[in-house]
Amino acid sequence: MAFEGLTERLQNAMGKLRRKGKITEKDLREAMREIRLALLEADVNFGVVKDFVKTVRERALGAEVLDSLTPAQQIVKIVDEELTKVMGKEAVPLNKAPHIPTIIMMVGLQGAGKTTTAGKLAYRLKKQAKARPLFIAADVYRPAAIEQLQTVAQQVDAPVFQLGTDVDPREIVKQGLAQAAEKKNDYVIIDTAGRLQIDEKLMQELADLKAIAQPNEILLTVDAMTGQNAVNVAESFNQQLDITGVVLTKLDGDTRGGAALSIRAVTGKPIKFTGQGEKLSELDVFHPDRMADRILGMGDMLTLIEKAQTDYDEKKAADLAEKVQENTFDFNDFIDQLDQVQKMGGVKDIMKMMPGMNKIPGADQIQMGPEQIGHMKAVVYSMTPAERVKPGLLNPSRRRRIAAGAGRPIQEVNRMIKQFNQSRKMMNKMSKGNFSGMDQLFGQ
Ligand code: GDP
Repeated sequence: MAFEGLTERLQNAMGKLRRKGKITEKDLREAMREIRLALLEADVNFGVVKDFVKTVRERALGAEVLDSLTPAQQIVKIVDEELTKVMGKEAVPLNKAPHIPTIIMMVGLQGAGKTTTAGKLAYRLKKQAKARPLFIAADVYRPAAIEQLQTVAQQVDAPVFQLGTDVDPREIVKQGLAQAAEKKNDYVIIDTAGRLQIDEKLMQELADLKAIAQPNEILLTVDAMTGQNAVNVAESFNQQLDITGVVLTKLDGDTRGGAALSIRAVTGKPIKFTGQGEKLSELDVFHPDRMADRILGMGDMLTLIEKAQTDYDEKKAADLAEKVQENTFDFNDFIDQLDQVQKMGGVKDIMKMMPGMNKIPGADQIQMGPEQIGHMKAVVYSMTPAERVKPGLLNPSRRRRIAAGAGRPIQEVNRMIKQFNQSRKMMNKMSKGNFSGMDQLFGQ
């Protein structure tokens, strides 16, 4: 799971502060040392860590935080805000051209996820903006590159302009743009060649393509799993091409967090999207504040709700958001959620976005394949309608009855109810932007 080690270590550092009640400068120093080590271990750029720790310390010492009634909570808030700032404060949308077409040039090293991301972008644009994108296949070096793009394009149902592998990419792009003008495509997505490493010839070619296409957006895809290397790649591409944004792919993997936390600070360019899996729908807008919450283990309900909106029933998603606000989310909604989760596929990622999940012992071990979802549903179906709406009714004897009815062990029923209650409580607090919920996460 992404950021696991970092989250745990940050929570430990904060948990210690919380247990103190009154915090001295020495306690703060110790906590800051742990935070610094946690960030370095997560492969965050050294300079970024240094500035970060300095700012947090100054703020914590400055505004009478230590003398306040809730010093630990305030320090958590400062850490959260500063993490957000390091990643760029706000989500940065895709650039849009004043006239059609908007031209997006995809660049990046081989294997970073360029072609996959090109497909995901088209999928997103078609779904959200009813766009009519045209792909241009400008990678003529890797034999299977064009076919790969064609496969992706077929899945999103968008045309590909290609001239095989014997024509110069510059010519391909020129003709591709002419076709887009003729066919009035509103977006053009150019899939360029990658290499295993940065080399001059590739950069020259990309610079030429940039001059020809004058793209509104040069999106660099980097693989989050490669940590500091991703940051170096980003710096280098930015120096040579003046990129407009970064897509951080493979955040569904076991990445430590270094790339997410360093790229903006090192290059000055925003991460615009993150790749969260291999499927076309698994591209999320990068929200620094939500990512900071996620790194701190506070979940990411808003992204979850947004995912709900693009990936499934909009009305249900709106209902869910409302229920979260009103704290009337019940087991019937939970079943709906399970159904939708099943449709969306990526259960582990969804779980990780649920606030509080990472605090539950063994939550990371939760395997939620179709079988487990089936078990969870069986448990809910064994509840009476009243129990589903009022989980407070679920005393031990009712739980035993439910376990027997569902044919599941009582421990499983207890665990599920506990998760449900915890998520519900946190969802409600977080949805109101209430930071006081955090002490429950950081307390033991
Ligand atoms: P390219 O060489 O840069 O065009 O990279 P590809 O698009 O071919 O991607 C390389 C591999 O990474 C493929 O197997 C993709 O399915 C996979 N991939 C791309 N993005 C993601 C992501 O966000 N998560 C995961 N898990 N895999 C990804």
